[in-house]
Amino acid sequence: MTDLDRFARLGIRSEADLLLHLPLRYEDETRITPIASVRPGDTCQVCGEIVRSEVVARGRRTLAVELDDGGGRITLRFLNFYGSQVAQLAVGRRVRAYGDVRGGLFGVEIVHPRYRMVSSSDALPTRLTPVYPTVAGIGQATLRGAILEALSRADWADTVEADVAGPLGLPPLMQALRLLHQPPADAPLSALEDRSHPAWRRLIFEELLAQQLSLKRARAARATQRAVPLTGRAQVARLMAALPFRLTGAQQHAWREVSADLRRHEPMNRLLQGDVGSGKTVIAALAAMQAIGSGRQAALMAPTEILAEQHWRKLRGWLEPLGIRVAWLAGSLKESGKKATRAEVAGGRVDLLVGTHALVEDTVDIPNLGLAVVDEQHRFGVAQRLALRAGRGEALPHQLMMSATPIPRTLAMTYYADLEVSVIDELPPGRRPVRTKLVTEARRAEVVARVRAAVAGGRQVYWVCPLIEESETLDLQTAIDAHAALSTELGDLRVGLVHGRLPSAEKAGTMDAFVRGELDVLVATTVIEVGVDVPNASLMVIEHAERFGLAQLHQLRGRVGRGAAESACVLMYRPPLSATARERLKVMYETTDGFEIARRDLLLRGPGEFLGARQSGLALLRFADLDRDAHLAEAARDAADRMLAGPGAQVDAHLRRWLAGREEFLKA
Ligand code: ADP
Ligand code: MG
Repeated sequence: MTDLDRFARLGIRSEADLLLHLPLRYEDETRITPIASVRPGDTCQVCGEIVRSEVVARGRRTLAVELDDGGGRITLRFLNFYGSQVAQLAVGRRVRAYGDVRGGLFGVEIVHPRYRMVSSSDALPTRLTPVYPTVAGIGQATLRGAILEALSRADWADTVEADVAGPLGLPPLMQALRLLHQPPADAPLSALEDRSHPAWRRLIFEELLAQQLSLKRARAARATQRAVPLTGRAQVARLMAALPFRLTGAQQHAWREVSADLRRHEPMNRLLQGDVGSGKTVIAALAAMQAIGSGRQAALMAPTEILAEQHWRKLRGWLEPLGIRVAWLAGSLKESGKKATRAEVAGGRVDLLVGTHALVEDTVDIPNLGLAVVDEQHRFGVAQRLALRAGRGEALPHQLMMSATPIPRTLAMTYYADLEVSVIDELPPGRRPVRTKLVTEARRAEVVARVRAAVAGGRQVYWVCPLIEESETLDLQTAIDAHAALSTELGDLRVGLVHGRLPSAEKAGTMDAFVRGELDVLVATTVIEVGVDVPNASLMVIEHAERFGLAQLHQLRGRVGRGAAESACVLMYRPPLSATARERLKVMYETTDGFEIARRDLLLRGPGEFLGARQSGLALLRFADLDRDAHLAEAARDAADRMLAGPGAQVDAHLRRWLAGREEFLKA
């Protein structure tokens, strides 16, 4: 591997990337600490003459070098070393060493110090030493050298106007970069490390500005794309009249927004957010009818087969009586079945195609696609979402994305600069709040008794186990074990099992049996996480709840409380709990509000992981932290609007500097 390859692995492909490769932290080598005052736990630099240097061969070979600075002695200890080092670190030589001090058997010592041989006339550095993020094969010295050289050549003109930067208290860009790469000895270390220093804020602002500029440009480009307006009112009215319920106020509101978008010549790019069970599917069905009523086809893609099949079942139930042709496509179908469906779709004999990512395989051709719906959109990669939308010819299909993972407002602003958002913030009437209980697994017998009682009352029960992962099987009671145990314990009850490794036909058969009430208890891994709808299920037990994430627990719990019966969710955990696991379970106990749960989840996890960093404009952010830097994010958004109104060259220069080579993140 060449240095260039290694640098590329660090994301460094240009001089700009080098300059923007900023230190993680700093080491202060501008001072020498007298050895007599060095204490275990300090990180410091000492300097002295070598008075002893020996290779100790007891147990593991180590090189021990003792330094004396006239006032005290300290040992430098090397566990890995070369012969050349033994020769270099000879008695009588002077050494400057930097590192973490610990108490050793014979006084203080530094294990694996960074060191250099010095003569008495060598001056100390006058700047703090930056420590950069790096990868194997690129030493700090190499990086520092390359960055310093780039810094000495660089002469970047500011792309941010002084009247924007000034009021925010931000120094010019070059000045900020010089300070961050080479802080003077008296620079405030803590402000540099927590990134509150004005130089850091300049960089963060620049980065947020680049993100806003690029998202706004992508949006403007999309606005020039064409779509076929969908206006099929009559079909929509027929479905509305045939539904077994009335839309809630929130659904009506969301539907009006979606319906209006579909009538436009510009492709819809809308996210429909609504808590688990809020009734997003019917909005998708109405949208499909509007497309079909305009003589177009519609497609709905869901992340798992179980979920896709549930959608298919439900949509068929609503639409087939109205003469709409609904078809189903998934990886598990026999090749002959798939081929037949593909032919029907290609021939225009299917109005609505429902399925998994099998829908975006090359062989699938939906010639007349007017609307693409993506359920649980965050579970798909950008490429899959785009593939479903890729239309034929000039016009793009409209796209509706649905998600039960609410995005808090602070994130929405940056993440969704390019999306319209509708929210269903109301549950259909008649839902009963689910009562949540936390119990340790020591009380498993009581939980099993509860399962019995629920079934005796004519109800059904979910029993959820963490995913089967080979690497974790040791301490993890898998769904298979749980199923075996429960089958014995519950003797006369009908206990079924589904998990991700089962053949699809078997999985579907078991789910069907549960839906039809032919099973009392369904033991499952998280394959039931999304979308399964069995109103008669009133109890959910989650084993090893401490291993699940908050979003997952919330989704799972949303599977109960859908019918008239009083419902409960038992979170069974194995103590001791980590601090985060404790906090997660506490959140689940305290609230059932999806938005509140998402907010707390964000606090626990940070935004990147929350959204799946690669999926969003968020991936453009290396330095900014949307919680900490919310104020700068707002300022960047306003500045982006002003810049976009001005000469394009300045915008280009800014984006080149910040985003070169990372455009793929913008397609979301
Ligand atoms: P989600 O938003 O989680 O996808 P679904 O679309 O699966 O929710 O809806 C959950 C359940 O609520 C389904 O059984 C659906 O038919 C039902 N439902 C949806 N809207 C209403 C309504 N307005 N009134 C009564 N039931 C509804
Ligand atoms: Mg759903």
